[in-house]
Amino acid sequence: MERILVLGAGTGGLVAANLLASHGYPVTLIEKRETHLFQPGMLWIAFQGHNPSRYTRPVKELVRPGVELVHGEVAGIDLGDRLVRLADGRTFTYTTLIIALGAHLDYDATPGHRELVERYGDFYSGASAAEKMWSHLRELTSGRLVIAAADPLYKCPPAPHKAAFLAAYTLKRMGRLGSVEVHLALPFLHEYPSEVVARIVAPKLEDDGVRVSTLFTVESIDVREGKIYSLEGEELDFSLAAVIPAHRGPMIRVEPGEVLDEDGFIKVDKYRLNVEGYDDAYAIGDSSNAPTSKTGVTAHLGAEVVVDRIMGYDSRFNGRTNCPIVADGTASFVISSYGHPPVPVKFTRFKRMLEDLFIASYWSSLKYPERWAPIFRAYFNATDPRVISGGW
Ligand SMILES: Cc1cc2nc3c(=O)[nH]c(=O)nc-3n(C[C@H](O)[C@H](O)[C@H](O)COP(=O)(O)OP(=O)(O)OC[C@H]3O[C@@H](n4cnc5c(N)ncnc54)[C@H](O)[C@@H]3O)c2cc1C
Repeated sequence: MERILVLGAGTGGLVAANLLASHGYPVTLIEKRETHLFQPGMLWIAFQGHNPSRYTRPVKELVRPGVELVHGEVAGIDLGDRLVRLADGRTFTYTTLIIALGAHLDYDATPGHRELVERYGDFYSGASAAEKMWSHLRELTSGRLVIAAADPLYKCPPAPHKAAFLAAYTLKRMGRLGSVEVHLALPFLHEYPSEVVARIVAPKLEDDGVRVSTLFTVESIDVREGKIYSLEGEELDFSLAAVIPAHRGPMIRVEPGEVLDEDGFIKVDKYRLNVEGYDDAYAIGDSSNAPTSKTGVTAHLGAEVVVDRIMGYDSRFNGRTNCPIVADGTASFVISSYGHPPVPVKFTRFKRMLEDLFIASYWSSLKYPERWAPIFRAYFNATDPRVISGGW
């Protein structure tokens, strides 16, 4: 009997499971948490003081009838035996597997990082850590807020930029920007990994009062002294800091181990998204090594491709990204695909309105992806990087 197992009820897993159910497939969805967090919301909680309840929902409310939801922690996958083991000993067999377990945040990779998060919170590890960051930002009257990254690979490449913009606006509103310096320390040559995007973002950061250090990859943090040291040999003093942790693949045992890359991400065919060497197992979103940005948009689009393929269509993932860079009242997007590097996208009020609409559609698009598909398709076609290659 057919049994489709989806691992992880994050963005990709929920879209895949709900779409499959809408087509009448029997689906079992395994998730370790009771609550789903809209991860970009951590930025608004940490730097604008939003209430976390805006960005969290019980997983069971996001699952349609027809999806069997199992709460439990996946411990291992045996691809040869088509078997998934949970930490509590339960086992599940499958005819088709979709791995959507996201990325593991490795706070132990950087000395001092755990202590930093325990003390100040951050905007990656969860809603309560983001609340903690807000409680410190609210009290900051002078000194330097540093936003930095421990590794160039992290989900949502413009997330530190958004953090810096939002923090700067908050401090400006409080009349403290100036006595508090917002400092963005990036592990890249330019103000963004893509030089084209950097040319758009850099002047905006300057206009909005954010200072930037490039080629600054966090190597260690001394919380007591308030110093961050970089691999490149620089150091920055801070009064408050948030460092994006190194990302790894999901912390589970996978057999055979050769399907994992050196950081534990699952190797996939970048177009079909099947696990390398297996036609009955797929990996989508942050857990895979597909060479595109790790974002909710790519997880959502990957889920659609995999469901199409399960239904017998020869759909292919094109690596499309649409990462928003939100600034005060305006936004830009980082738009690219496998065949096309990022295009220049100016900050405008219209794009901010689009981003606010995307955020508003999030919960519904997880549960009823097929209803949103025509709207999203129209948007993605109109903004295909080949169509807007001259700029938007
Ligand atoms: C600050 C921030 C801002 C962001 N901004 C944007 C943005 O503006 N636009 C955008 O598109 N993306 C953004 N992202 C990225 C986006 O949130 C992720 O890329 C997206 O959630 C990835 O989806 P996923 O399904 O691959 O993984 P996730 O959504 O992380 O889901 C993984 C799920 O697997 C579960 N899980 C993990 N391990 C186990 C286990 N062993 N057993 C059972 N369950 C398990 C987790 O609990 C989780 O529910 C942002 C991320 C952050 C942190």
